[in-house]
Amino acid sequence: VSLISYDFEYYLPSSIKEAIQLFEALNGEGKEPIYFSGGTEIITLGRLNEVKTGAVIDIKQIPDCQVFLLQEEFLITGAAKTLTSIEEANLFPLLSKTVSEIADRTARNKITAGGNVCGQIFYREAVLPFLLTESLMVIAGNEGIRTVSINDIFNQRLLLEYGEFLVQIKTDQSYLHQPFVSIKRRRQWNTGYPLITVAALKAGGMIRIAISGLTTFPFRSKQMEGILNNSGLSLDERIHHAVETLMVPPLDDSEGSFQYRLFVLKNTLRDVFHQIEGEEHHYG
Ligand SMILES: Cc1cc2nc3c(=O)[nH]c(=O)nc-3n(C[C@H](O)[C@H](O)[C@H](O)COP(=O)(O)OP(=O)(O)OC[C@H]3O[C@@H](n4cnc5c(N)ncnc54)[C@H](O)[C@@H]3O)c2cc1C
Repeated sequence: VSLISYDFEYYLPSSIKEAIQLFEALNGEGKEPIYFSGGTEIITLGRLNEVKTGAVIDIKQIPDCQVFLLQEEFLITGAAKTLTSIEEANLFPLLSKTVSEIADRTARNKITAGGNVCGQIFYREAVLPFLLTESLMVIAGNEGIRTVSINDIFNQRLLLEYGEFLVQIKTDQSYLHQPFVSIKRRRQWNTGYPLITVAALKAGGMIRIAISGLTTFPFRSKQMEGILNNSGLSLDERIHHAVETLMVPPLDDSEGSFQYRLFVLKNTLRDVFHQIEGEEHHYG
């Protein structure tokens, strides 16, 4: 809090209902409240400095936001679960692998699943496993709780209504131990941002692909998957055609140009297919 140069109110509700009521009340007072989870982005972006009458609502003490467990047919990931705790519990190896490559250990002790999904950073790599498994987003708002497939509510970003927050993510357990690959390509060593991250999961005989780093948001393209899974073509032809179908705003930044990212994407897709096919041999 000492990093922030003015006073703001800080709230730590202990239930979903209390959080929603706080949001309503603070909003009514013109305080433009924001939800706070790991806080790493809120603090680094200095977003609080822009919102002069800020009030933050920290969701960390809400028990529903802190679970990470198997229940009935789902894995339930609380929005306030840290990346480190997700990685250590290792209930979903693809998720563990993908989040273990985000930032550095110290940052991962703070960064949360929900904060990464709802954040501003282009990469948001924790979204990739949830896109591949068509997970359900459990969202709280003033009308109660709604559960929506990520397919219907994640388009460039999580399309929350004003005042809503993400409580949990539910992933069908049948996906948790399918063959997967997650490859992060960086320009710099170790903890840099990605040039390209590709996560892949094999389900129902098809390889699903989700990509981060090519454009300003993580995405999964079913059209691209259709081409990549067309066994009538060679792998290189499939990759060439699949990448051609992509219509996304280019991301050009200090990590790399769009052209370079496309080049890295093609190489990474090649590696993804080789690895996932290698896995299959391994499985028998
Ligand atoms: C050194 C460093 C390197 C990093 N590298 C990467 C990287 O390579 N790839 C990557 O993907 N990320 C990376 N990150 C993480 C990323 O930049 C963000 O800091 C992180 O994702 C934010 O998570 P948080 O839990 O701290 O969210 P917060 O800072 O708490 O919140 C982020 C935003 O989401 C909103 N929000 C939070 N939780 C909820 C919720 N439950 N419902 C609705 N809205 C919510 C907040 O209001 C805020 O706008 C890096 C971070 C650091 C510090």
